[in-house]
Amino acid sequence: MTTLPAGLSRPEFDRLIAAFVDALGVESVIADATRLREYRDPYTYRESDEFDAAAVVTPTTTEQVQAVVRIANRFGVHLWTISQGRNNTYGGPAPRLRGCVIVSLREMNKVVEIDDELAYAVVEPGVRWFDLYEALQASGGRLWSSIPDLGWGSVVGNSLDYGVGYSPNGDHASQLCGMEVVLPDGSVLHTGMGAATGNANWHTYPHAFGPSLEGLFKQSNFGIVTKVGVWLMRRPQRYTVCWVRFVGLDRLEHVVEALRSLMHEGVVLNLPMLNRGLEVDEHGMSVVVPGSDAWSGRFALYGRATMIDTAYAIIEEEFAGIDGVQLIRRDFDGTDHSGPSNHDERVQRGIPDMDLLDPNMLPFGADTAHLDLSPIGTARGTDTVRLQKLMDDLYSRHHRASVGGILLNKRHALHVSTTFYDPRDPAEAAAVFEAYGQMVDELAEAGYLPYRTNLQNMDRVANKFDFGGGAQLRFVETLKDAIDPNGVLAPGKSGIWPRALRQDQAVPEEKGAV
Ligand SMILES: Cc1cc2nc3c(=O)[nH]c(=O)nc-3n(C[C@H](O)[C@H](O)[C@H](O)COP(=O)(O)OP(=O)(O)OC[C@H]3O[C@@H](n4cnc5c(N)ncnc54)[C@H](O)[C@@H]3O)c2cc1C
Repeated sequence: MTTLPAGLSRPEFDRLIAAFVDALGVESVIADATRLREYRDPYTYRESDEFDAAAVVTPTTTEQVQAVVRIANRFGVHLWTISQGRNNTYGGPAPRLRGCVIVSLREMNKVVEIDDELAYAVVEPGVRWFDLYEALQASGGRLWSSIPDLGWGSVVGNSLDYGVGYSPNGDHASQLCGMEVVLPDGSVLHTGMGAATGNANWHTYPHAFGPSLEGLFKQSNFGIVTKVGVWLMRRPQRYTVCWVRFVGLDRLEHVVEALRSLMHEGVVLNLPMLNRGLEVDEHGMSVVVPGSDAWSGRFALYGRATMIDTAYAIIEEEFAGIDGVQLIRRDFDGTDHSGPSNHDERVQRGIPDMDLLDPNMLPFGADTAHLDLSPIGTARGTDTVRLQKLMDDLYSRHHRASVGGILLNKRHALHVSTTFYDPRDPAEAAAVFEAYGQMVDELAEAGYLPYRTNLQNMDRVANKFDFGGGAQLRFVETLKDAIDPNGVLAPGKSGIWPRALRQDQAVPEEKGAV
């Protein structure tokens, strides 16, 4: 049965669909209930209709996106934007509010520009990591992109949601420079230097004259990003994958201190990933050993051969002071595409794959769902161990097995964790989300908050940002009401609701999980 947008009768809905068809063409509008099921998050309970969309529209140009936004204002319906909509576990393509119309930008998939000299590309939102990699290769392979673990997501969706990768440009949100945005009234804004017509520094200068607006379009609901510049790195002469192997949390503290120091010194430039229960052989092949307290830290060096050898000597010196730590390195020429032969070697080199979704590696095969909980700690060794112990304790008290890792930045550490479950089992799905909510509460009590969350918990997490009686949320709600008075764009994203829907939202404790 079709889910109707709130407040719309069936005849009004039919007129809405006709308006979309008129603007985009019949191929670009989906209102069929069976096809709409594909737009559920595969990582929530399969039969739940809690986050079902009313329709999907697939514009192919910025002008069509503008038309969609204007139609939404006219009919008083809500939109939810996806670029590829592969944000599985955080909601996938599904909207926070049932009955939204999904604006899928999958067909806006052009790599608009590649600038070899200044090392950036300009992409439309449907461009996947696979597409960007192929375009860079086709244009001579002189530039590398940072990528996340899976290649099927979009550069824009991942980066706007503060996604992460593993190269020197691994903090993806901070690599975006110069956006084209359709605002809630259907007008178009260029951010930064692009606000001056024809300015050549739209994708090179990261700030603006006056306040910088780009942050407003990240993890938010103030606009639909239709084009963006993304900074890349130049292909190095040599690429060296490094592993540091050790056992136990005591050593973790010292390894974090050493790696952070190497990052601040400018020796390690990318974002190291530390994984527990992973053992690495001398060929750089990693094997999962569940329950083991063996750790492996993965990082890489990029540059001229002489620089890399010097950097590696410094790294050996740094780790020589820690007992029981082993280093491994594997060298590749910068032009060698086939040499990096496993996921760990490829992902830090910007070669996308889908290895982590290999059904043979997952407990429920292709039907495996997972729920991610990823709080932020500081990059201090002691704090890393404290948060790791807290996560272990939480998962154990909630009787959930988990796997995870620590993505180290210069100043903070993302503790990425996941628990697997069968999304065909309603009781299991409910239990997993119930445990998640409680763990978020307990982490917040201890001073830790996630950097990203799922649809079910956006209000819960938003409410943890309570300084000044919720001053941040009040501020963004004020903005929301001013620029989107009809609340057309993504109501509820990151806990930001338009005025008309605010009072309808239950307090987090009262919400059902699935
Ligand atoms: C096994 C596995 C491994 C993963 N590894 C990683 C990883 O290494 N790093 C990582 O970051 N994530 C990872 N993820 C999470 C997720 O798969 C990726 O972040 C994925 O790239 C997000 O999907 P997307 O790019 O299609 O984003 P989308 O689903 O298209 O977008 C995400 C959100 O951003 C907003 N948005 C999207 N497009 C626009 C737009 N044009 N304008 C305004 N707002 C917009 C919407 O709110 C949307 O819900 C992993 C997931 C799995 C299952």
